[in-house]
Amino acid sequence: MTGGEGRWKAVEGGAALRQPTVIVSAKGAARWQAGHPWIYRTDVYDEPGDAPGIVAVTDRRGRHLGQALYSPKSEIRLRLLTRGREPVDATWWQRSIASAAARRAGLAATAYRVVHAEGDGLPSLVVDRYGPYVVAQLLSAGLEQVRDDVLAGIGAALAPEGILLRNDSAIRRHEGLPLEVTLAYGEVPKVVEVVEGDVRYAAAPWTGQKTGAFLDQRENRLLLAEHAGRGGRALDLFTYHGSFALHLARRAAAVVAVDTSAEALARGQENATLNGLTNIVWREANAFDELRELERRDERFDTVVLDPPAFAKSKQSLVRALAGYKEINLRAMRLLEPGGVLFTCSCSYHVNRSVFLEMVADAARDSGTRLELLAVTGAGRDHPEIVNVPETGYLKGALLRAAD
Ligand code: SAH
Repeated sequence: MTGGEGRWKAVEGGAALRQPTVIVSAKGAARWQAGHPWIYRTDVYDEPGDAPGIVAVTDRRGRHLGQALYSPKSEIRLRLLTRGREPVDATWWQRSIASAAARRAGLAATAYRVVHAEGDGLPSLVVDRYGPYVVAQLLSAGLEQVRDDVLAGIGAALAPEGILLRNDSAIRRHEGLPLEVTLAYGEVPKVVEVVEGDVRYAAAPWTGQKTGAFLDQRENRLLLAEHAGRGGRALDLFTYHGSFALHLARRAAAVVAVDTSAEALARGQENATLNGLTNIVWREANAFDELRELERRDERFDTVVLDPPAFAKSKQSLVRALAGYKEINLRAMRLLEPGGVLFTCSCSYHVNRSVFLEMVADAARDSGTRLELLAVTGAGRDHPEIVNVPETGYLKGALLRAAD
């Protein structure tokens, strides 16, 4: 530690802020060179200590590498913002957020992600749009330190009617930050109606999971809607507030939607009413038990969706998680009618795409069902996946059809 609070003060005469410098190892520098924005604690030689914020980063010879968000308490010490020396002020955030928004131009959605953190080169910043409102997350100590500039940038780039900060993500604990939900600007209602293809649903920005809805599955829901057969029966496991079930109910004769959360199911029921749909049965149950029970009763479905929460929260839990994924997939496959369609996915970062597809193949073999792979998917295009940054590609899905 070579300093502290004092380093952040304006230099004499005032206008410019003197920026603290962090010195990193060759290995740290190589990570940026390879297109990954994180530098870990172990690759930092010299740092300002306990004051998070934006820092200049150099190698040991003093060569400028860029500017980064600095988190003194986190294993991820530095997150690259820019290779340049330009001031990272409110105008910088406005420009960066506006260019992320421009990359989404033409997206036919009322709710979508405008800034996908590392996926948009703005590490630890999430900005979601719900109609005229913005729900944002500041997920690092460095970013929290420049909150006012970021909010000004969001305001100037997107002109929302309100900005809600859903800073209650557990990730903030690693940064030594409090978990809180705060209205930063204007007004954001408790419920915002979202239009998605031919259905509507109510998102809950203040209380719902993530920023109020699972926006990352939007394109997958539309894709499934294209492939779901007309008539017949559909099963939506881990339905949350019915996002897949609503699309299926427009097409199938009857839908069974399953979740352990009574609160989520109640909102699912309201969403069905909003769409005038009366063919969804909401079942509060553990999906593992429900699958066993459906199999025991010899029930069959023309469409099945499996959208579980992340089973592998860490590398250590990978083996157990894979056993869980395989079990639900194998059982779901056995429930398929001939020609039936299964959409299965995993949002565990630790289960990468090839491991996921191996698990699916393994389950198919054990279930005795021949399955045609119709599509391998990820999150929607508003959640860009950078191949150099595997953390941005946490969601993977497979659309399959029972071949006989
Ligand atoms: N498919 C939803 C998102 C699902 S998120 C969408 O597109 O919006 C995962 C859901 O799984 C959560 O709603 C959670 O309540 C539910 N869940 C977690 N464990 C479960 C279990 N064992 N059985 C059934 N539901 C479960």
